[in-house]
Amino acid sequence: MALFKTEKKPPRAGIAGKWDVVIGEDMCKACGFCLNVCPVPVFEYRTVPNKLGWFPMYVKHEEHCIGCMLCYQICPDFCIDVAAK
Ligand code: SF4
Ligand code: SF4
Repeated sequence: MALFKTEKKPPRAGIAGKWDVVIGEDMCKACGFCLNVCPVPVFEYRTVPNKLGWFPMYVKHEEHCIGCMLCYQICPDFCIDVAAK
């Protein structure tokens, strides 16, 4: 089974929209792990660099998050926090 799936599922009604997703963009090294592991379309790359010179990830569609915590677990730089609203 592939760890990363490029196809994103539509958000699930009743589960999505109940989560706060926060990225520490100044610490992000733009590895893309969160974008790839997330099952729904939440993340996107910024078009301007952070202090480290990377184009960091940001939370574009928090309302799609289903709280699976995969991004929180996979980020190698501990940039992401996910919590129930
Ligand atoms: S917890 Fe992270 S990986 Fe899971 S749906 Fe929300 S943003 Fe995507
Ligand atoms: S996994 Fe962490 S370091 Fe990698 S792009 Fe996402 S927020 Fe940035």
